[in-house]
Amino acid sequence: MDKRDFYEVLGLAKNATEAEIKKAYRKMALKYHPDKNPGDKEAEDKFKEAAEAYEVLSDANKKARYDQYGHAGLGGNGGFSGGGMNMDDIFSQFGDIFGGAFGGGGSFGGARGGGQRVVRGTNLRVKMKLTLEEIAEGVNKKIKVNKLVNADGVTYKTCSTCNGSGRITRVAQTFLGAMQTQSTCNACHGAGKMIDTKPADADAQGLKRQEEVIEIDIPAGVEEGMQLSVTGKGNAGPFNGIPGDLIVVIEEQEHEDLRRENEHLHYEAFVNFVDAVLGESIEIPTINGKAKIKVEPGTQSGKVLRLKGKGLPILQGYGSGDLFVHINVWTPKKVSKEERELLEKLKASENFTPNPSRSERGFFQRMKDMFH
Ligand SMILES: [Zn+2]
Repeated sequence: MDKRDFYEVLGLAKNATEAEIKKAYRKMALKYHPDKNPGDKEAEDKFKEAAEAYEVLSDANKKARYDQYGHAGLGGNGGFSGGGMNMDDIFSQFGDIFGGAFGGGGSFGGARGGGQRVVRGTNLRVKMKLTLEEIAEGVNKKIKVNKLVNADGVTYKTCSTCNGSGRITRVAQTFLGAMQTQSTCNACHGAGKMIDTKPADADAQGLKRQEEVIEIDIPAGVEEGMQLSVTGKGNAGPFNGIPGDLIVVIEEQEHEDLRRENEHLHYEAFVNFVDAVLGESIEIPTINGKAKIKVEPGTQSGKVLRLKGKGLPILQGYGSGDLFVHINVWTPKKVSKEERELLEKLKASENFTPNPSRSERGFFQRMKDMFH
């Protein structure tokens, strides 16, 4: 994957000041902070990417090299030692920038060690079966999900074990003097809150299950296995935390006639031998109706006709794919006595001896001809 421009990563103009760079990084780091996005790999990557950009842009020397030569000016790896930073590096190097934003004081690293966490709800996954017609047009779907929501009437109080900080500090006497260690509060698991009033239908975290109808806009051109994420529509976060996401996994129903290949469609057309010889217009199905195509006189079995733009819309792009019509000449499986006599007569004609041209001889040549 190509490395993104560092200014772009932080959403900055090229002439950004030192203060602007610092501010932008702080904003990104807070947004994608792992404590706010537990278990979210994408957020973690964004967090690392921002740290990497900041590492360069906050260093006058590296910044000058980057401004002049781009990523190449920093050496193969963008100037980073050993393939990007790990989380601990980031916290130890840039922790001071966050001040008391997390966990109410101390360094960032300390907060990560067990500071008060915004507890995030879990993601909800649903499968959605779509027809090829729906995929071609895009579709609005309503689905019923059974999800965790905050129970009515639940109230919270500050955790009495950690006094709301989410962590426990212990002071141990060692031969080096007093040493402070911090760990996540066992009573509240770092949330800093506990349930005060618990309604009968609520679980230990103040949540209950409830059915909800969610409306989802499926864009045109999605594919089997694709995952669409609807932010905030997953399970509620315990202790008034942030809800998880609803992940919609796309399943594609097979079409009766058309076969999909990315944005292209394929159709196997069978024409009778006489039409292949004399030529004929035939009707074929398309994704939203029918189309007539002309089979030219003397069409060979295996010929592919291409209908531009009759495929599927390209997701996150412009235009549509094509519909490829594969011509198969139908060979009768049984013939009557009269038919046999006719065919025997035709066989005697010199016209019926195979005599393929160069382009008709090979599959690859045919493909080449089709695309030129
Ligand atoms: Zn606690």
